[in-house]
This record gives sequence, structure tokens and C-alpha cells, in this order.
Amino acid sequence: NCMVDQLNASARANQAQLVELDRLYRQASEALRLRDEFLLVASHELRTPLTSLSLTLEAMERKHQSGRETPREHLQRARRKVTCLIGLVDDLLDVGRIQRGHLELQQAPVTLGSLLAEVIASFRPLSPRHHLTLELPQGEVFVKGDEARLTQVFNNLLDNAIKYSPEGGAVRVKLTRDEGEARVSVSDEGVGIPAEQFPELFERFFRARTTLATSFGGLGLGLYITRNLVERHGGRIDVQSEVGRGTTFAVTLPELRETHREVAFPPRQE
Ligand code: ADP
Repeated sequence: NCMVDQLNASARANQAQLVELDRLYRQASEALRLRDEFLLVASHELRTPLTSLSLTLEAMERKHQSGRETPREHLQRARRKVTCLIGLVDDLLDVGRIQRGHLELQQAPVTLGSLLAEVIASFRPLSPRHHLTLELPQGEVFVKGDEARLTQVFNNLLDNAIKYSPEGGAVRVKLTRDEGEARVSVSDEGVGIPAEQFPELFERFFRARTTLATSFGGLGLGLYITRNLVERHGGRIDVQSEVGRGTTFAVTLPELRETHREVAFPPRQE
């Protein structure tokens, strides 16, 4: 009897091991499938601006050959495509840095209100058909962080808010402070996100999994990078959304109080 019990126990242990192996195998296969899908999306996303850049350059060359001047729009179009390509490649590089734990932050006190005002100002000429507004509290709000990286966070959120909402839509950025925290919300009146996608939204390759066939361009890396940057600043990011009504992303960062500012970043001796 004892022998039978032992055999049964070891059969059960083997069974449990097999189930675990099967789970790991499925997980690894899914990861590989996502990577392949991502490569497909990334190649496509890189090829589209490259093709259009090539066409613009061809047109410029023809003009040049026939002794005509290159129209300014052609140059502007070419430059926009190059900027877009640099943005895509920068995102790929950032993901690599995050994965290897090599993303460095240059920390200093940052005035969040001014940073947001600059981000909004840079979007206005690019998105004249969206109604962009910024609401700030009384007085400055300081956080400790990397100005360029925080700019990237709000650039990403604003870029999405505009990309996923119709022309004429309002995009509202609001800065508030509450109990030692600074909170920035970016709201749009766009397509919205189904609640069941919230858990995956900030993962790498999320787009590859869901929006492969949509007309919106993108690599699906923006929110992954954004969340990583926010968390590296000791903050968090949340999403609220209703399909067909709009989306709000809220970034919360620890506020840098006046007393702490002096201790952490003493004024430079001139
Ligand atoms: P990308 O925009 O390049 O696909 P992101 O990581 O920035 O990648 O966003 C991931 C996905 O989340 C998008 O593909 C889109 O489906 C969804 N998304 C992000 N922001 C918004 C928004 N403001 N409104 C609706 N959907 C959004």
C-alpha cells in the first residue's frame, strides 16, 4: 500500500511538472509570436515614411534636372518624414535601453507648468484643427526629474490624444497638486479604449496585438516607454476611458517642496 501511495504521489508530481512545462512553453511561444508580429509592424512603419521620402526626393531631383527651383513644401515634407523616422528609431533605442536597464536620467528641479506650456506650444502649429487647452494651478509646481524625459512623457500623451481623436476635438491638459503630489491629466474626445485593454495598454508591442490593421500609424511603444519614464521618476500613470467618448491619462509625480529643493539642489555658487 505504501508503495502504491508513493507511486501515486510521484505520478502527481510528474503531472504537475508537465503542466508547468506546458505553461512555460506556451508563454515562450506567445512571446516569440509577439516579437515576430512586432517586427512586421515595425518594418511596415519604417517603410511607409521612407517610401514617401523617396518619392519627394525623386520629385525634387526632377525639378532640379529641368532647372526649376525646388518648392519649399517639398523640402518641408522631406524634413517632416525624416523627423518622424528619427522618432521611431529613438523609440526603438529607448526600448532597448529600458530592457537593458541603461536608461539614464539627468535629475534636476523642473517647473512642471512651464514644461507643459512649452509642450502645448510645440503642438499648436502641428495640430491647428484640435482645440488644445492648458489649465494650471496658482504658483509654480516643482518636481525632481529629467526635463527632456518628462517632455517626452507629455509629448507622447499629447501625440496620442491628437492622433486618436477627430479634428475639432478638444484636448485638455490640466495640472493640479494634491497632498505632495503633482497630477497632470491629458483628456481627449477621441475613439476611446475598451476597458478590457487597460491591463495590456502599457505593455510592449501592445499595438501589434490589437491594431495591426487600423489606419493609425505607430509602433505601440509610446505608452510602454511613457509608463517606464513616469515610474523611474517615482510616479504612476492611470487611464480612464469610454469607447466613443474619449480618454484621460493621468500622470502623478511626487512634488518637490521648496525646503527639499534647497537640500537636494543647493543654489550654485557663482
Ligand atoms: P502607438 O500609438 O504607437 O500605437 P502607444 O503605446 O502610444 O502606441 O499606444 C498603444 C495603443 O493604445 C494605441 O495603439 C492605441 O490603440 C491606444 N491608445 C493610446 N492612447 C490613446 C488615446 N488617447 N485614445 C485612444 N486610444 C489610445
